[in-house]
Amino acid sequence: YASEMNASVEEKLVLLEGMRSALESCTDSQDCGGAACQFHLLYQPKIDLRSGRLFGVEALIRWNHPEHGLISPLRFIGLAEESGMIVALGEWVVRSACAQGQAWRAAGLPALSISVNVSARQFEEKRLVERVAQALRDTGLPPEALEVEVTESSIMRDLGRSVDKMRELKAMGISLSIDDFGTGYSSLSALKSFPISRLKIDKSFVSDLADSADDQAIAMAVISLGHKLNLRVIAEGVETEQQRAFLSANDCDEMQGYLFSPPVPAERIAAMLAQQPGA
Ligand code: C2E
Ligand code: CA
Ligand code: CA
Ligand code: CA
Repeated sequence: YASEMNASVEEKLVLLEGMRSALESCTDSQDCGGAACQFHLLYQPKIDLRSGRLFGVEALIRWNHPEHGLISPLRFIGLAEESGMIVALGEWVVRSACAQGQAWRAAGLPALSISVNVSARQFEEKRLVERVAQALRDTGLPPEALEVEVTESSIMRDLGRSVDKMRELKAMGISLSIDDFGTGYSSLSALKSFPISRLKIDKSFVSDLADSADDQAIAMAVISLGHKLNLRVIAEGVETEQQRAFLSANDCDEMQGYLFSPPVPAERIAAMLAQQPGA
């Protein structure tokens, strides 16, 4: 048992060291996203359910490890959180996503909202707002084009401070959404105080939507709660036409999922935007 534990600690240390050097080469290299860069972002389209239009994308990080190949963020984001490296890694994500958003704008493509995931420790970090503001200034992306996705659990770790921070981001013009909604513990009274514009129904409630009466009830409740609070509601992990039809019939505003598109490289997003009717 002890040796198994050591192995996993050792594994973690190796992964962590790999992450540190990968991040270094990523932030050093002038052509970030080029061959030297092991991290890159994919972008998943967000679709308006009523019009069918692509109105935004979520940036999702990928790590292409020289020996282990593609490593899922589910495997390294937790470790980056634990070690504190998430602050630097998250800053790279924000800067890269803003730069990409600005590149799409400069190419004359229709306006797009770009969302980034900000995890608990990154959200709590003192200089978060400053770092995001700096990324916007350096890239020229208008704050209105940026959305920050935070989870209920991140916010609830220090509710008062979180609400202040969300207000600062909002005052800059950035939008906020609650990610994985329904899987955390925010009270309804806390939710009322969040300066957010969107609730994101977690994919765990979407996957069985066609068969599970419970999941249907949850989805409907989140949609109606969101609308009563004047928020937009987006469902993630939409994979089937049945799920889309249910969400649509129940007045959900937006969706994201494999049914429309998995996360894809930036070039694919540009192609999708250029092909949209009216583009
Ligand atoms: P999330 O924020 O809840 O993101 C949704 C996840 O669902 C993504 O997994 C996405 O690729 C996946 N997904 C999208 N559509 C479908 C679908 O139709 N079916 C299914 N089964 N899955 C779908 P991914 O990219 O592996 O990311 C996993 C988690 O890692 C994210 O969950 C997020 O919590 C975290 N993450 C990813 N990128 C970042 C990042 O840049 N920063 C931070 N802090 N966390 C990130
Ligand atoms: Ca997310
Ligand atoms: Ca999430
Ligand atoms: Ca989720």
